[in-house]
Amino acid sequence: MHKLEILLAEEKIQAKVDELAGRINQDYAEKELLVVGILRGAFVFMADLVRKLDVSVIIDFVAVSSYGDETASSGVVRILKDLDETITGRHVLLVEDIIDTGLTLKYLYKNLKARRPASLKVCTLLDKPDRRKVDLVPDYNGFIIPDYFVVGYGLDCGQRFRNLPGIYVIDQGSGKETEGEEVKGEMIH
Ligand code: 5GP
Ligand code: MG
Ligand code: MG
Repeated sequence: MHKLEILLAEEKIQAKVDELAGRINQDYAEKELLVVGILRGAFVFMADLVRKLDVSVIIDFVAVSSYGDETASSGVVRILKDLDETITGRHVLLVEDIIDTGLTLKYLYKNLKARRPASLKVCTLLDKPDRRKVDLVPDYNGFIIPDYFVVGYGLDCGQRFRNLPGIYVIDQGSGKETEGEEVKGEMIH
């Protein structure tokens, strides 16, 4: 049984997505943008974000898997599904759910950069800079959060909870305290 405590409510996330989309619309005005979502975690954020973009948008996805356990990234990344689109000469925005150690994104960034896009930027909803192992600063970042393991809004624990509209800290038996407001009776098993 997992206990979930709210960290970011749906309204707060939506306001942030609006703000990020506003900046992206300004930065890419008159350009065509190839938005690349990193599966599976980014699918909810990306779906909300692209619907607020008013520049010309093309969508693609990559799926990666990091060798490691559920909560820790090893830095050895495998591309499970590559892009369908050719990115050479195009403006690419990589969309990620959360940056933790940064190892996954660093690997992907280098891999895509080698294909010579006109530009390559990173947009993440969440960032846990305390855990960073490589030098990586996202161009667009929604929220900086402490070192909690979070679920919801696309993010999973054992493939569950991706459908929740808010973002929650999941109690995995670590006994960690959170600053989030507790959701009364929110016990999911
Ligand atoms: P990194 O390579 O930056 O350490 O990890 C990147 C990936 O690990 C994220 O895209 C995400 O899939 C997963 N991850 C990192 N932190 C969390 C977290 O707090 N919750 C969940 N559900 N996944 C996380
Ligand atoms: Mg991810
Ligand atoms: Mg996961």
